[in-house]
Amino acid sequence: MSFSYRTLSFLLLFVFAGLCPPLLAESQKGTTSQQNSITANRMQSYGPEPVKVATLNNFPPFSFRVKGKLMGFTIDYLHLLEQKTGLAFEIIDGTWEQNLRRFKSGEVDLVTAISYTKGRTSFTRFTEPYYIIPTVVYIREGSFAYQGVRDLRGKTVGIETGVFYKEYLQEYPTIKIREVEDTNELLKQLSFAEIDAVVTNINIGNYMKKKHMLENVTLAGRIDIPAIKDEDLRIGVRRELPELHSVVQDGINQISPREYKSLQDRWVGFTPSTMLQGNLLPEEYALIERYRHKYGGFRLGCHPAWYPIDFLDSAKSHAGIAADVFSLVSRKQKTPFTVKETDSFHQSLTALQSGKADVIPAVVPTTRLRDKLSFTKPYLSLPLVIATRNSEIFINDLNSLDNKRIGYVKRGVLVRTLTQNYPRLSFFDAGSVREGLQRVRDKRDFAFVGSIPAISYAIQNHSFYNIKVSGTLTETLPIAAAVKKGNDDLLRIVQKGLNSIPLQTRENVVDNWTSIRFDEKVDSRIVWSVVGGAALAVLLVVVWNRNIKSLNTRISEANLLLAQKNRQLEKLSVTDKLTGLYNRSKLETVLEEERKRFDRIGTPFSIIILDIDRFKSINDAYGHVTGDKILKMVAGRIGQRAREVDIAGRWGGEEFLIICPGTDEHGAGRLAEDIRLDLQEHDFGLERGLTVSAGYAAYKETDQGIEGFVNAADKGLYQAKIQRNRVVNGRETGD
Ligand code: GH3
Ligand code: MG
Ligand code: MG
Repeated sequence: MSFSYRTLSFLLLFVFAGLCPPLLAESQKGTTSQQNSITANRMQSYGPEPVKVATLNNFPPFSFRVKGKLMGFTIDYLHLLEQKTGLAFEIIDGTWEQNLRRFKSGEVDLVTAISYTKGRTSFTRFTEPYYIIPTVVYIREGSFAYQGVRDLRGKTVGIETGVFYKEYLQEYPTIKIREVEDTNELLKQLSFAEIDAVVTNINIGNYMKKKHMLENVTLAGRIDIPAIKDEDLRIGVRRELPELHSVVQDGINQISPREYKSLQDRWVGFTPSTMLQGNLLPEEYALIERYRHKYGGFRLGCHPAWYPIDFLDSAKSHAGIAADVFSLVSRKQKTPFTVKETDSFHQSLTALQSGKADVIPAVVPTTRLRDKLSFTKPYLSLPLVIATRNSEIFINDLNSLDNKRIGYVKRGVLVRTLTQNYPRLSFFDAGSVREGLQRVRDKRDFAFVGSIPAISYAIQNHSFYNIKVSGTLTETLPIAAAVKKGNDDLLRIVQKGLNSIPLQTRENVVDNWTSIRFDEKVDSRIVWSVVGGAALAVLLVVVWNRNIKSLNTRISEANLLLAQKNRQLEKLSVTDKLTGLYNRSKLETVLEEERKRFDRIGTPFSIIILDIDRFKSINDAYGHVTGDKILKMVAGRIGQRAREVDIAGRWGGEEFLIICPGTDEHGAGRLAEDIRLDLQEHDFGLERGLTVSAGYAAYKETDQGIEGFVNAADKGLYQAKIQRNRVVNGRETGD
């Protein structure tokens, strides 16, 4: 046969790789409308008022002020959380004492960077930690040998005012404690020998040491008081607001490991290898040994049939994604696991409660289960997709399916996510993925919503040839591990175990269970960097499988589908991912077309180049996430102002180019001025106004091609930038 499977698969992959980024653009468009519906929903519960959040102002790299601007990991994290929950936050920053007072008095509803203590539960509902920081000791280089807290006896030890570990240090009566308001001051006192040691968290300590070049300050080691756990940063919600707590907690679970990692890379970056969170403490090794001795290891309470995420195979061995991740943990951390066999997840929960099982390896964290379980951070976020019959078209936005029956497997978190975010849709419990897909096949339901691996597994194992994945959701299904509520020592060991497996490796495990057929060839990074792409991967696998099964009868169908996809590809590949305007390559194509038309029949055309004024300072002041939002808003307004015939696109960074066919320079000048005024008047919610500068020009024969033409308009922009917030004809700059 001249047409090999391999050729077909390469062909499919090619389309796949090409389609990914544009698909993302589509799914982001989906996000906006969806987010509006989430917001609308939340608004009902909380009114239009933003939720007030207290944040520290002196806590780098988490939240701190530089030249008056508040920034840091926590600030960006809160912005992400706004996206995930639809809530709007008003951030109020201050010292820890101020924050706590505001929180207790109800002046704010949320407080960040709060660690769990029993005492605080009387007025706080804690989320799970969003960051865990080792607590360490700094000393002056060569001043004394630190091997453990005993070496601090007789010394003056500095801590930040109000930290939770003060009481534990006080148990050593000969340690003299000095409380200081901020860490910077603390480390300076250490550097100048006013105190002997500082106990603080490693991130803030290292940041301060580096920033203020405190060369003689050195990291001595961990603080080895068992009661001083690594510092857990959580969001605290006022006790009276249980609903808000669960909205925030659900939002936290929606932050994918990948999004989290990028925040961490941006703000925190380093942690010395000896302090890595995968590293176990001696007492943690001891606990592992006790379990090994007693039960042969930690006993896993599994789902017997949650394919392919967590299940028992025909030989009753633990299999699936969770089993693979835990076997990696077991190898890496030398932690033994055994399986506590049960007939249902419910039985596993009961086993955990009665002490017959220790760890639930895979569970979707929900508010309901939170009474019984303590969860790790989600170690995976599974993309959610929409499956339909083959004959249906691609679905960009789930909201377009109102008044259609949509099946799903009714599990706590999905109910909440789907019904809250898509209030207009009707979801029905299909019982299982297999039944759900059967119902779609038999036209009893229109679509089925579930996670990628679950749907792909069912399609492959039950030969649903008529089913395809026809859309993606922006929501994901978070997968965490859990222990019995309050079993914090064990939770920490499991969390460290999961931390020790790189995210990429965890995602590869999912890929292995998702796309058994495209094994060697697909670069899984593409799939994961583009959640929308993952859906397509499944789609293509399905097409691929179908063709293996009966190539002759199916090949034309596959080609049809490919043709359809190619048309979509064509449409999508001209779109700029961030702004939804045309991308540069499309602009260049149109410029070339217009030039040819000018050459042929002399139709005039003009261009406008716009560049946002002092955009860098917006990024600096509000962070890139906000910068991106502003960029989208500007793009949106430019797109609206441009006439139907104009081609508005993103030329690069924060520069836009508008092509005005059939328009002379006066027309272009008017449009440019129009846009300038519109943006100047618009309230972007920034402390200062936002303006643009623009250059424009009409095409002339003497430009000798597009490059010369764009240069001409660029000259106008250059001139405009001298004063900014101006529009200048590039032909009238005097050179
Ligand atoms: P001016 O144009 O008025 O001279 O000042 P400017 O600060 O806008 O300077 P310039 O145009 O040279 O710099 C553009 C900045 O825009 C650089 C970069 O930080 C930011 N930027 C470019 N692309 C993006 C983007 O996609 N997202 C965000 N958030 N920022 C971007
Ligand atoms: Mg620029
Ligand atoms: Mg600029």
